[in-house]
Amino acid sequence: MWNPRPTQTVFGDVFCLRDKDVNCFLIQGQNGYLAIDSGYQNSQNTSAGLKMLGIAPEQVTDVFLTHLDIDHAGGVCAESQPIYPNAEIHISAQEETYLTGAYSRKTIAGHRCKLPIALPRYKVFAPGEALRVNGISILPVAVPGHTLGHTAFLAKGIYLFFGDCIIANEEGGWLFYDFWNQDPALNRESVQKLRDSKLHAKYVLTSHSGCLSWEEAFRYADKSPHWRKKGFVFCREAEKNPYRA
Ligand SMILES: [Zn+2]
Repeated sequence: MWNPRPTQTVFGDVFCLRDKDVNCFLIQGQNGYLAIDSGYQNSQNTSAGLKMLGIAPEQVTDVFLTHLDIDHAGGVCAESQPIYPNAEIHISAQEETYLTGAYSRKTIAGHRCKLPIALPRYKVFAPGEALRVNGISILPVAVPGHTLGHTAFLAKGIYLFFGDCIIANEEGGWLFYDFWNQDPALNRESVQKLRDSKLHAKYVLTSHSGCLSWEEAFRYADKSPHWRKKGFVFCREAEKNPYRA
């Protein structure tokens, strides 16, 4: 069940765009913007959102992808009208292996499904290596599990873009629905490792359920929602509930 935030200024220098059930983000730099994820392919929602925020797509210099699922990487994939025409695309070395075919996101009856995403061009980063882009400090943090190269990004030392590691409701953050995780046990391990690390960001921004404090984000870091339960309701005010019959 998804509960993304409407398109808005989240903080003075951080913006979110809503595309159906997902948020992607923009961080203001010295000379334009850095984006985290890109929404779906050929999306009217993201372009309308940019207009609403007064941000020209050409002002976005770099896009860092948390992972290659279509709701996050669709806007920069080869088949899409590029949402940010001037931007350099960045993915982790681990996530790149989905593009080369070494990893497979989904296997049906033993058959490896082809990734629906192809990137026109991109740069590969190594998690743990601090970068400075557009005057913004950005630290990629490996959090494998949802996908095997899933990456979180700590920007400006205070904002942690957490992608699909957790999902939050009124009570706090839980491990992301295991149905959508490539390796749920690995996601749990990654989330708990980060919780116990020294990173401690001030704000944690999720892709499908808004922004939380660090304490809220890791409140249920040992539990994933029981979405198989009959009549499952995770978040009362969520508009999107793929688990409702
Ligand atoms: Zn997602």
